[in-house]
Amino acid sequence: MALAAEHTTQYLQSISKPTEIHWTHVFDIGEEVPVSGIYRCFFCSDEITSNKGDKFPPQNKTQHECDSKPVQWQLVVMTQTKGPNT
Ligand SMILES: [Zn+2]
Repeated sequence: MALAAEHTTQYLQSISKPTEIHWTHVFDIGEEVPVSGIYRCFFCSDEITSNKGDKFPPQNKTQHECDSKPVQWQLVVMTQTKGPNT
């Protein structure tokens, strides 16, 4: 689980019932990362940071305990930058 210190949780904003696809979709290996942020494997909870436009990493490059289940990535924390590549 992603960690935040008590004094840094003020920088996290909770979004209730988001409808954007990056919050509602679970992404497969090789799909393009829709927004930069922290993602977790839906089955084993392993976490990665990924940048917008990159591809989600292949299963053989990570340490997963998903058994026969596929590695799928779910957005946990979305970063917000002032640049064009949010
Ligand atoms: Zn996994």
